[in-house]
Amino acid sequence: MSIIKLHDRFFKTYITSEMINKAIYKMAQLIEKDCKDETPLFIGILNGSFMFVADFIRTYRFDCEVSFVKLASYEGTNSSGKVKQLIGLTENIENRTVIILEDIIDTGGTLEEIYNIFRTKKLKQLKIATLFFKPDVYKKALHIDYVGIQIPDKFIVGYGLDYNGLGRNYPDIYQLTTHNMKNIVLFGPPGAGKGTQAEVLKQKYSLVHISTGDVFRYNIKNATELGLLAKSYMDKGDLVPDQVTIDMLKAEVDKNPDANGFIFDGFPRTVSQAEALDAFLTEKGETINGMVALEVPEDLLVERLLKRGETSGRADDQDEEKIRNRFNEYNTKTAILKDFYDKQGKYYGVNGVGSIEDITERLSTIFDEL
Ligand code: AMP
Repeated sequence: MSIIKLHDRFFKTYITSEMINKAIYKMAQLIEKDCKDETPLFIGILNGSFMFVADFIRTYRFDCEVSFVKLASYEGTNSSGKVKQLIGLTENIENRTVIILEDIIDTGGTLEEIYNIFRTKKLKQLKIATLFFKPDVYKKALHIDYVGIQIPDKFIVGYGLDYNGLGRNYPDIYQLTTHNMKNIVLFGPPGAGKGTQAEVLKQKYSLVHISTGDVFRYNIKNATELGLLAKSYMDKGDLVPDQVTIDMLKAEVDKNPDANGFIFDGFPRTVSQAEALDAFLTEKGETINGMVALEVPEDLLVERLLKRGETSGRADDQDEEKIRNRFNEYNTKTAILKDFYDKQGKYYGVNGVGSIEDITERLSTIFDEL
């Protein structure tokens, strides 16, 4: 799935060009059959239909003609003050079979105006074909002869359709998207319980949990290039360089295109990581909903980590000096992120001392609101 930004709005892929091509092919076949003894005149309604008409005509295998019109309104003298007029129609269409090609029909208002104008032209036959059709909002009695793809009432752009002038050049169709993911940074010093809580919360809220520490450890275990690089830093309790970590995090997010949201655990750990995360999510039309921080006094943390070191097999948990270095990294580079998110009104502190269940409960109260 890809996301595009047009003006102030984000749109995500909705109908691919392959699906469009298939629909056009079917429409062309039907129309070919119905018009086998005719040379139909296809009339595209500008601007939106130009791409559809071009592809449709390329697919149509028999004699046909093509023209374009535009519906313009000018100041008139009737009661509404506006009169609609077709511009661009120069050929004599009397006694012809005319097929109107529309990119999209929703309420049918424009279509009806166009239809009424054509009806006065003494045609042999007048038919309507539309690539996209919104049956739920169509209000007119006018029969639509050929429909490519029926869609619900969604705002779409691309493939000739625009949002305030932009978006016509995309080969696929996109739909409007809103920030509906829950993206949470679970924050706190080493040993605060982020991993334990993330395991519970990811189930409860159907989120994808990304622990950068876990991803690094996985890579070390499998002796990947990334693992070899990270190991020298991790063993000492130092942070892995930003760019390495940021690239890795982006790859992890991109592996989950259908996620409802993410729990970021152990990321970001520096301001530059936080900025990169913001930029990365903005590109996708998403944002961080909040930083939820587990607050635990340092002495208790050291005790917890040494205890975990007895069973975790982690070199960085077993030696008090390495643990102290991790706190030092935390205090000098990571703790400042509290201000980073606080300034955006996104910091939520939670008391991280107590039973696992109690802490989950406290975190859930905040997760529910985000
Ligand atoms: P954790 O499992 O979160 O305690 O992380 C263990 C180690 O992995 C850290 O001490 C760092 O060496 C490395 N690491 C994890 N996340 C990051 C990050 N966001 N930036 C830099 N290094 C990280």
